[in-house]
Amino acid sequence: MNDAELVDYAKTLDCIHCGLCLRTCPTYQLTGNESSSPRGRIALMRAVAEGRLDASEPGYGAELDFCLVCRHCESVCPAGVRFGEMMEHARSALAAAVTAPLSVRFVRWIGFRVALRSRFVLARVHGALRLAQRGGILPVLGRAMGARGQGLASLPEIPPSAERRLLAPFTAATRTRQGTVAVLEGCVMPEMYGRVNRATVSVLTKLGFDVLTTRESTCCGALHAHNGELDQARELARATIEAFEKLSPAGSETAQVVVNSAGCGAHMKELGRLLAQDPLWAQRAQRFSDQVVDFSQFVAPRLPASQRLILEGSGEMLRVAYDDPCHLCHGQGIRAEPRQLLDRIEGVTRVEMRSSESCCGSAGIYAMLRPEESQAVLAPKLEEFAAIGAQCLVTANPGCQMQWQSGLARVNSTAQVVHIAELLDRALQP
Ligand code: SF4
Ligand code: SF4
Repeated sequence: MNDAELVDYAKTLDCIHCGLCLRTCPTYQLTGNESSSPRGRIALMRAVAEGRLDASEPGYGAELDFCLVCRHCESVCPAGVRFGEMMEHARSALAAAVTAPLSVRFVRWIGFRVALRSRFVLARVHGALRLAQRGGILPVLGRAMGARGQGLASLPEIPPSAERRLLAPFTAATRTRQGTVAVLEGCVMPEMYGRVNRATVSVLTKLGFDVLTTRESTCCGALHAHNGELDQARELARATIEAFEKLSPAGSETAQVVVNSAGCGAHMKELGRLLAQDPLWAQRAQRFSDQVVDFSQFVAPRLPASQRLILEGSGEMLRVAYDDPCHLCHGQGIRAEPRQLLDRIEGVTRVEMRSSESCCGSAGIYAMLRPEESQAVLAPKLEEFAAIGAQCLVTANPGCQMQWQSGLARVNSTAQVVHIAELLDRALQP
């Protein structure tokens, strides 16, 4: 691999060095160092491509790892820099060019090649983690590991096995039928938030949709792509596309694929790009990407104006703050629909957080790999959440849900953390 192939050089040239992205970058806010900013990282990539910096220099890899790939920089960039794509390319090329220590390669192999690809392994791992959590071993182990173990110590409670069950392959509409949709079950989602998947299906069936799911694919490959495992991400993309194609055989109605995880949705909408160089898959991938739709994006325009949404409760209004998942607002440009849905719920007062579009520090597996930085990124948001007097945090991504649950528990807050599908399901009268 030559220097130019180590980065997507053409894309680095789009940056006009204006610096508008600096104030939005969470890692720049933590360090104040130019090299930890989007502009600084692009300069490092360009230096590698032009042979002025050796990619094996530890500082280069460290800055790539430090980035959350939140893509906030993309939303404010006047030059349309595609930073997320650049990072995926740079991380993947670096992993191929520079041999990581054996321990790192082993952990990545277990995580990416074994666990995330197998429902069986994921179920066993979560079962074991729950036992360790219930027996008090996990928090002790996490604390014994020091800073590195903080992610384990503050892992939200893993649900019992009855709640970690998979969705039915078919669920019929409970109202006048409007059509058929498919739902992505996900890899970690059924293990940690099976209830969110069930709420998603429930909302869709209450709106009159038959819901299909597939057990033939596990992980869509989003975590692999974000962490520089692009070859594996392509393999998983092909498997995902094939599995969903089988749900809509030729001649039948083509079902849209509803995704309730912002990170997975952003990735699946870009599979056309990921497989663009593969002549056998490029068209299929683009067709599939065009079918993918986020949960709120699908539901908001289909909720009849006459439909009442009522949150039964104590009789008092619930103060709710919506935190935009980065891969929903910056990755998919979806900001209005979740707010429109929340504003329709009687019994809810929505309060806006100024920092709602800033990353919460979850960033896929970042919170596990870099707990200190991840918590430092969340800290100002926790303060703002408390300051506005919110009682409930609403999100639309499982990683963010875990991050907020852990963060609020650390500051002894009793606020609820819910996915928007859960709140909507509670409010949507049957
Ligand atoms: S993706 Fe996020 S953390 Fe990375 S450079 Fe852009 S704003 Fe900073
Ligand atoms: S906002 Fe865009 S063009 Fe300006 S410095 Fe950042 S990445 Fe470069």
